[in-house]
Amino acid sequence: MNDETNAAASEAATLSDWGNVAAGDVMDRLVSLCKRRGFVFQSSEIYGGVGSTWDYGPLGVEMKRAIRDFWWESMVRRDDIEGLDAAILMHPRVWEASGHVAGFTDPLVDCRNCKHRFRADALAGADDPYCPRCGSRDLSEARQFNLMFKTFMGPVEEDASVVYLRPETAQGIYVNFLNVLNASRQKIPFGIAQIGKAFRNEITPGNFIFRTREFEQMEMQYFVKPGEDREWLGKWLDIRRAWYGELGIRADKLRVHEHDRDELAHYAAAAFDIQYEFPFGWQELEGVHDRTDFDLGRHEEHSGKKLSYFDEESKERYVPFIVETSAGVDRTLLMCLVDGFREEGEGKDARTVLRLAPRIAPIKLAIFPLVRRDGMPELAGEIYRGLGRRWNAFFDDGGSIGRRYRRQDEAGTPFCVTVDGESVTERTVTVRDRDSMEQVRVGVDRLEDWLAERIDP
Ligand code: ATP
Repeated sequence: MNDETNAAASEAATLSDWGNVAAGDVMDRLVSLCKRRGFVFQSSEIYGGVGSTWDYGPLGVEMKRAIRDFWWESMVRRDDIEGLDAAILMHPRVWEASGHVAGFTDPLVDCRNCKHRFRADALAGADDPYCPRCGSRDLSEARQFNLMFKTFMGPVEEDASVVYLRPETAQGIYVNFLNVLNASRQKIPFGIAQIGKAFRNEITPGNFIFRTREFEQMEMQYFVKPGEDREWLGKWLDIRRAWYGELGIRADKLRVHEHDRDELAHYAAAAFDIQYEFPFGWQELEGVHDRTDFDLGRHEEHSGKKLSYFDEESKERYVPFIVETSAGVDRTLLMCLVDGFREEGEGKDARTVLRLAPRIAPIKLAIFPLVRRDGMPELAGEIYRGLGRRWNAFFDDGGSIGRRYRRQDEAGTPFCVTVDGESVTERTVTVRDRDSMEQVRVGVDRLEDWLAERIDP
């Protein structure tokens, strides 16, 4: 190998999917960027923080809303799906019927030496397990630990007033199946979709916002005729897989994993995970499950209310089967940040950039007057007020243009509009693309349409 190929090989070795940053450093860099730029803060930070809960700052909250909106538009703006917003607190018997009181548990092991607790599958050493923290083999037997948060409804803290914070949004949909069916006059097959908070007392939360105790789900439950469930499972898997492509996620970082028999949850007849390759490995983003008639069947049994459907066409009465798509808002957001994060270039050309799809970028465009005179601030202000009504825009007249671009690159802003001397005389501006860094001149009157084609395709 000569020097040139040596140099090329070492450069290739240092360049990762994230530019100049090695995979092992990506999460640390991203967590600090998120704090610095106002995407995500640790909850109750001034009190030292609280276990695995996070707050979304000004940019994070915009991005989260954009993800929810995109999901809602894709899932509910269809003739066969209705929306719902059910309460977080539900009748405690819901969780008996669903199987969560008895079975929503993780095996928990205590290390008698360092007193830490772990999920049994987090122990090190497959055949001869030991504590991953201190290495001790003095471990307790595994005990089942229920992941639901318990609280009390009303002023008396007694067993009869125990309620749970919902660990999934799905049950709110099942118990409203007949209400929605009757109110919307849908016919099977049809679906009910909901976005909302869920809570799980996870034993080992971690990896930033990947696994937390409070999180948000985007779930859709599709009610079908028994026997048609497998076909719908395949259709929904394809639709949901394609959705991540529309989010601009790199195709080679996405895959589908089919659950083996022994991985299947108690309610599922078949299940797929859509997974993403995070810097900490392949992980689930979304579950697509064939839940059969388990859920409606159990609620019929426990509530004593009929939850069957009369099919006018076939003149049959049956309990519908359910195909579910269940995704996490926070996890989707983390995936988009990880997928878009790069540190690129050298020396004065070095930059940190978030290549977010324009539809989910928190700031859609930034507007810069080149200098603070000669009519440039006025025209820039006019453009900012006009387009700011439609999109979250940012006005910046401080520092060199290069510095202003860098600030926006780090926030993931896809377009920077600069108003220069020519803009004032010709009513044209330059628009700089975040990813290619190329600039084009666009007429002020055409600017909104030009941006709309790229932001809201
Ligand atoms: P795991 O086995 O990783 O605990 P799960 O299979 O129990 O997850 P589901 O019950 O299928 O997860 O939840 C559906 C989706 O909700 C997940 O794909 C994920 O996006 C999201 N989700 C579940 N638990 C959490 C959590 N603790 N923090 C953040 N998101 C979560």
